[in-house]
Amino acid sequence: MQKEKVIPFNFIPDKGGRTLKLGGANYMLMNDAMYTFYERSMGDFSDFFLAIRDKKKILGCKCTKCGMVRVPPFVTHCPDCNFAPTTRVEVGQVGKLLSTPPITYFANALFLDKAPFGRGRAVLKGADTAMSVMLYTTTGILTPGIFNRGTEVKIIFKDDRMGEICDIFAVPTSELTRAQIAKNGLLESELKGSSPCSSTTATSNSRTRNSNRPISSSPAKTRATCSTAFFTKARSLIQSSRKNFG
Ligand SMILES: [Zn+2]
Repeated sequence: MQKEKVIPFNFIPDKGGRTLKLGGANYMLMNDAMYTFYERSMGDFSDFFLAIRDKKKILGCKCTKCGMVRVPPFVTHCPDCNFAPTTRVEVGQVGKLLSTPPITYFANALFLDKAPFGRGRAVLKGADTAMSVMLYTTTGILTPGIFNRGTEVKIIFKDDRMGEICDIFAVPTSELTRAQIAKNGLLESELKGSSPCSSTTATSNSRTRNSNRPISSSPAKTRATCSTAFFTKARSLIQSSRKNFG
């Protein structure tokens, strides 16, 4: 299998050019490239990303004076407490959305293979600030109405993690079983095969809230097609629309 590169191969045009006709005149367009590659340090954020990659944990920082827990741990010293030091703490992996998230269907090149996704701000259990996280549904293409302000979400970890923020995303807890919600470090591959109908009453109730979402008569089968297959489908949709507009 071809090893993945920083710039995916399908974004790199073939060497050559084409003729563009404009106002009766021919113009040459040549494919060219200008790349800059560099390494960047995650600096004081390193343990946050290492915890995601190696321990499937979400870390925050807790002020030693006021006790505020910020997630992600974006300060080493609390600006509200005359720069008292903070300490690292682990926070929960279930939280609530601070606001109704926008959905990105047509993303720029950096996120093209990830669209469509919601851009959520989730306040995880034990945290006082909201963390930006990508949102998906296990039921197919993300549509408005699945996520709203206050929707409870669960952090999911990708099976292959590099130590970047896209290693995690969130799904509604209403689409998960009680066991899945309770399990820390839930993997994307563990979402497959779960059936919302076999889950708890609480889950069924919260599922009813999203009544604008089509509920399949065979949820187990729907669930089995989620995630990877869904991402592939979404990617091909986006790529075909790029061709149409390009
Ligand atoms: Zn403080």
